[in-house]
Amino acid sequence: MPRSRILPYLDRLVMPQDYFFEYKVPIPSKNDPSVAVLNPKLIAESETFSLFEDKKEILCNGCNKYIPFNSFYTGQCHHHSGRYIGYMKMWSCCKDKYQKLATISPCTVKIGHVNNGNFYLERFQGFDRVIGKSNANNFIIAIDCEMCYTQFGLELCQVTLVDLDGNILLSTLVQPVRPVVDYNTEYSGIEAKDFENSQNPIETFESVRAKIRNIISPDTYIVGHGLDCDLRILRLFHDRIIDTSYLYPHSDGLPVRHKLKYLTKKYLKVEIQNQSTGHDSTVDARMALKLFKLKILQQEVKVSNKIPLALKRCF
Ligand SMILES: [Zn+2]
Ligand SMILES: [Zn+2]
Repeated sequence: MPRSRILPYLDRLVMPQDYFFEYKVPIPSKNDPSVAVLNPKLIAESETFSLFEDKKEILCNGCNKYIPFNSFYTGQCHHHSGRYIGYMKMWSCCKDKYQKLATISPCTVKIGHVNNGNFYLERFQGFDRVIGKSNANNFIIAIDCEMCYTQFGLELCQVTLVDLDGNILLSTLVQPVRPVVDYNTEYSGIEAKDFENSQNPIETFESVRAKIRNIISPDTYIVGHGLDCDLRILRLFHDRIIDTSYLYPHSDGLPVRHKLKYLTKKYLKVEIQNQSTGHDSTVDARMALKLFKLKILQQEVKVSNKIPLALKRCF
C-alpha cells in the first residue's frame, strides 16, 4: 500500500494524546522528562521500584501470595497459567469457573515465583525518545516485543520491527539483564533453547534499545497491538502511535481490550498464537500492520460511498 493512500487517513487513525492515560501509554512526568507517568490519579507519586533483594517478602504475580525472598526463586508456584477472563468468569488455562482468586484450585505448578517488577508501576525511570532521521523506510514501523520473567521482573526478550511492507528492519532475541525465572513460553513463544541455539548474535537490552532509537524517527508512525506494553518495556516515549486495540475497541470499553489473536481471526481470517507456536513477534507485528491497512481500506470505501453517483461515473 503506497504512502499516498495512507496519508489522507492518518490523522483519524492515530491515537489522540488525550487517550494516552486511558490506554496506559507512558508519558513524561512534568518534573522529570526521564520518568514515565502512567496514571497519576491512581498511585501516589512516591511509589518507586526497589530491588527484590531489598525486600523480605515479594508478591508473586503468579500465585498472588507474598513469598519470603530466600525461597522466591526456588519455591513451588501453584498458579493458573492462563488469564482470568472477566466477562466469562473463567480462567483461560483450565476453564475453571467462578474462582477469580489465583490461589484457589490452581492448575499449574512451576519452580520459582514471578513478579512483574517495575513493569506495571505507574511511574518509572530511564525513559527517553527516539532520535532517528526521517527516511523512506521509517514512515510507518510496526513493532512487537516479547517479555519473560527474570529475577528483576518482566524484561524484554525479543523485539521485531517491520516496515510498511512487512519487511523486517530488526528482529532479535534480547538477553535479559537478570537471570530468567520463567520464559513465559505460552505467551512469548520463547524457550531457553532459542537462546542456546541462536545463529544470530543476541542483543543486550541497551544495544537493541540504541538500534531502535536510531531506526525510528520522531516523525514515524508506530503501529502495533497494545503499544503501551511495547513502549513501556522499551522505555520509550512516542507521540505518533497507531494501536489496533484503539482502532478496534471492545464494546465493553476500557480496560477491556480485544486480543490480537481475536482481531486477526475476526477481520483477517488468520489464526495466530496457536498453542503449539505461542507468540511470534514478527507475525504479531505484521498482523497489526494488516489490521491497520484494513482500516485504511474501510476509510476509502466510506469516502467513495459519499461521492455522489453522478461524480462516480466520471471516475
Ligand atoms: Zn508464585
Ligand atoms: Zn488454570
